[in-house]
Amino acid sequence: MISPKDKATLLKFLPNDDVLTQCMHCGMCLATCPTYELTKLERSSPRGRIKLIKSIAEGKLELSNLFAEEMNFCLDCQACETACPAGVQYGKMVESARVIIEHSSVGSSKINKAIKKFLLNSIVAQHSRLKLLARFLYFYQNSGIQKVLIKVLSVFPTAKKLIEIESLTPKISKVFSSEGLKEKTFPENPAKYKIAFSTGCIMDVAFSDINFDTIEVLQKNQCEIITPKKQVCCGSLHAHNGEIEKAKELAKKNLDVFSEFEYDFLISNSAGCGAFMKEYVHLFADDPQYAQKAKMFSQRVKDISEFLANFGPNNQMHSLEETVTYHDACHLCHSQKITEEPRKLLQQIPGLNLIPLEESTWCCGSAGIYNVTRHDDAEKILERKMKNLKDTGADVVVAGNPGCIGQLKYGIKKYGLKMEVLHTISLVKKSMENNI
Ligand code: SF4
Ligand code: SF4
Repeated sequence: MISPKDKATLLKFLPNDDVLTQCMHCGMCLATCPTYELTKLERSSPRGRIKLIKSIAEGKLELSNLFAEEMNFCLDCQACETACPAGVQYGKMVESARVIIEHSSVGSSKINKAIKKFLLNSIVAQHSRLKLLARFLYFYQNSGIQKVLIKVLSVFPTAKKLIEIESLTPKISKVFSSEGLKEKTFPENPAKYKIAFSTGCIMDVAFSDINFDTIEVLQKNQCEIITPKKQVCCGSLHAHNGEIEKAKELAKKNLDVFSEFEYDFLISNSAGCGAFMKEYVHLFADDPQYAQKAKMFSQRVKDISEFLANFGPNNQMHSLEETVTYHDACHLCHSQKITEEPRKLLQQIPGLNLIPLEESTWCCGSAGIYNVTRHDDAEKILERKMKNLKDTGADVVVAGNPGCIGQLKYGIKKYGLKMEVLHTISLVKKSMENNI
């Protein structure tokens, strides 16, 4: 049982009344919520969750396992924010509710909370340790050990879920982008823009090819690129999983590191990271030391598709005779409201047949680490995405977020679809190279 003093401390994490009372209970968000769609229970809907959080804040409801379950069941996909006519800041509410849950005795067991905290705060947040772990994983994936282990595990029907979760581990890159990229990269022609580039944490070790593609395309678009060696994880995974203090610590470190350089825009190719770095301005709004720095930082953050669609001279793209469909990553379409720019970019590739994906803005089930921590729920959400993808008959599905890319690759293999999964920038780079 939580003491009244601890409870009072925890409740301070909740947003103020202005945020908590915005909801007018119209229900327009319900049809867009993947978890409500699964259960049809009011408490699994955005409106229901807001009511639960408000009741906790007003002292009308005690913290309970059921409350924790509903907050963790939520994907934090923010589709409800897009649908809401009242401008409800739902993400803020659920993320602060998760801070309370992580610091209280409700929700998952102490040991599970400790493991999650260790992985987030002592591995993901410490890039040298993340790289060390990634090197072990690279060896495991490439030495044959992985194949043998999966073969052994498949003998046991009870290990099915374990094998599925294991296969969600992204393929570790041979060369990490933080090591393969110089701190400064210059274009062949005179630079039009000075760009700061965020390499990300998981992106750096498991999707470094996308980072290399991004730099190459930027370079060809007359950009001088700064990739600060001392940058750290943006903190988004921490903020979405109840570790807001660690998220702030990481954000401050990035604000200090990037402020040492002069640049026009800060480019991210990961929807989750870009969305959170745009949030730094709100995170430090009341911090006298960091408020101004965060404002200057956030206003220059751009997703790579946002930057190229608006500033990139795309006439260097060559014909690609492929049928492509586009999946909207939640943190790109719902958090950053970027839907037109990636499509605009893809439509500029000569010969490319861009076909619509039904429910393209419906979450794929990746949602940060949700596909691991809530694997069964994520599987149900993935099934819907796979059906819609299959119906397109496309050769390639494009997305702008590493989590979605990993989840879609996993789903395509599981459902036996013949479809390549690419990041938007990788397709752009492919068309730039296709100069035949
Ligand atoms: S964030 Fe997504 S899953 Fe959570 S309540 Fe909103 S729509 Fe539903
Ligand atoms: S759409 Fe907005 S105002 Fe309406 S119920 Fe949902 S969260 Fe509340």
